[in-house]
Amino acid sequence: MPQVSQGQFENVRLTQVVSGILELGFSSVIEAAKGADMVAIDESDELLEKGFLTSSCCPAFVRYIQVHKPSIADHVSHNLSPQAAIARFIKQKDPELHLVFVGPCIAKKMECQLPEVNKYVDVALTFEELLAMFAAQEVDLAAQPDGLLSGASYFGRIFARCGGLSEAVAQAIKEKGRDDFMLRPVAVDGMEAVKDVVAKVVSKKADFNFIEGMACLGGCIGGPAMINHEMRDKMMVEKLARTGHSTINGSLNDID
Ligand code: SF4
Repeated sequence: MPQVSQGQFENVRLTQVVSGILELGFSSVIEAAKGADMVAIDESDELLEKGFLTSSCCPAFVRYIQVHKPSIADHVSHNLSPQAAIARFIKQKDPELHLVFVGPCIAKKMECQLPEVNKYVDVALTFEELLAMFAAQEVDLAAQPDGLLSGASYFGRIFARCGGLSEAVAQAIKEKGRDDFMLRPVAVDGMEAVKDVVAKVVSKKADFNFIEGMACLGGCIGGPAMINHEMRDKMMVEKLARTGHSTINGSLNDID
């Protein structure tokens, strides 16, 4: 069972990619954005409890904090990343399933080796590798019927671009009715910007209470194993996201 991210295959609909993956022999396809919904809920809880937090979705960002900024390492969210969160949810329902994550990220291959993740995610593939599998099996994506997407929220789907996680956490706090909590987020993409913002926060020159750190420019839509690296990718993420649920909580219980 693979999880997929969004918008990477030319001249075909994402729903056709879902069918193509099934054609490869997988039993079902779940959007990684479902895991992002789960992360937004858990991350907002942790932020409300601790008062200051950094994201944990990007393994390269997490590694940077752990190695270079240990003074705030305890404030890296203890939540799993979206790929691991949805994998845990699925494996708890059916421990026999093998879970494959498909995305734009090479760092996710390293994340899959972590003990807290490898019990849920069996393999992390890149979009390039999925494309190679389609080619090897001669799966014609354009000829596929439309498969079903799993129905993540708008907020889960915008995790793919920098700033999406911060918006999702803000939405989760709002849905919890915690108007008393003043969220002061900063979303940074690219390691140079990450280093700059983290240094300011550590030295108390900036007063953010939530840092969303993404190692790639633009967030995961700028990931090293993306097939396309174009501005329209961000617009495609936005377009697909707008077909999702408008609340985060409403999207967690419809995985068969
Ligand atoms: S920002 Fe880049 S390195 Fe970080 S999770 Fe996304 S694709 Fe991977």
